[in-house]
Amino acid sequence: MKPIKLVHLYPERMSIYGDYGNIIALQQRMDWRGIKNSVVNIEVGSKIPHDTDLIFIGGGQDRGQVIVADDLASKAEQIKQFVESGGPLLAVCGGYQLLGEYFISNDYGQLNGIGLFNVVSKATNQRMIGNIVVQSDRFGKLIGFENHSGATEYVGRAQPLGKVIKGFGNNPHDKLEGITYKNAIGTYLHGSFLPKNPKVCDWLIGKAIAKSGQSIKLKPLGDSLEKRARNSSLGRP
Ligand code: GLN
Repeated sequence: MKPIKLVHLYPERMSIYGDYGNIIALQQRMDWRGIKNSVVNIEVGSKIPHDTDLIFIGGGQDRGQVIVADDLASKAEQIKQFVESGGPLLAVCGGYQLLGEYFISNDYGQLNGIGLFNVVSKATNQRMIGNIVVQSDRFGKLIGFENHSGATEYVGRAQPLGKVIKGFGNNPHDKLEGITYKNAIGTYLHGSFLPKNPKVCDWLIGKAIAKSGQSIKLKPLGDSLEKRARNSSLGRP
């Protein structure tokens, strides 16, 4: 069996508010099932391997986004082809913003995105911080933590990840959160996102296995601890 290859984009600069936990969750839920896997960390100047099975980019301060934006743009075509061919991708917060058309920072001006997602983002003078709950048609209730100044709007056709039940989401007014496009997900949910939402984690693992050209059935995991943690988070005021 070919190990499932995860690519983590810019872990040094784009992995704040626990976002590395998403990689840990992906690996751990494959390890528990005996599915071999590996992680390739891609920093500025490194190349994304051609046999990548899943791409992850976390969130970052505006400064970190400035540092990676040009390099990310140089990888735009490869990332877009990966997603267009069904490759699974997760982008959180600052990573989500940079996979849209652009992010306008208060301190650094406009950072061009790669245009994978039909969104534009602009820093506001309000930080949107706190626990967040989103109702997703595909995944049910999603829980996480958000901390961003950027407000995101859809441009053209876009499928939100879900409706905001509690918190801000994309911006303070439209009560929508994130975006899905093919097997790519953009979201403001830190937390880490995947440990708190195992259904999404397993969905991404399934897509990564398919991308690798293998067919492995994902046996269900007990998830008793995950369920208790979710219920506790959902019960928070
Ligand atoms: N710097 C961006 C903002 O403040 C993204 C922050 C983040 O990734 N948490 O909106």
